[in-house]
Amino acid sequence: MSLLDYQYFPVSRPNKGAGGKTGAWRIVKPIVDYNKCIGCKACFMFCPEATIIPNNGKIKIDYEYCKGCGVCANVCPVKAINMVSEQ
Ligand code: SF4
Ligand code: SF4
Repeated sequence: MSLLDYQYFPVSRPNKGAGGKTGAWRIVKPIVDYNKCIGCKACFMFCPEATIIPNNGKIKIDYEYCKGCGVCANVCPVKAINMVSEQ
């Protein structure tokens, strides 16, 4: 797969969990549909908590630090991430 335009940009990234572990207050969490994921890493690039980790050509999410903001779901070009209620 060829790189997308934003993957050429120099970026700085936050440290994972700079705001601490999420605890029990998150109300929605991102769930990846691996049948749809094309491994483009857009979610990895844009996650403000750096809790998305490239993994075998796809990604995985560290739920201990994920804040449930939904940025990853919003930037995914193939809508492979759904925000699902914690309850
Ligand atoms: S919901 Fe927010 S914090 Fe959690 S993985 Fe997606 S972008 Fe990162
Ligand atoms: S943005 Fe979507 S398609 Fe790209 S790696 Fe993340 S989940 Fe997969």
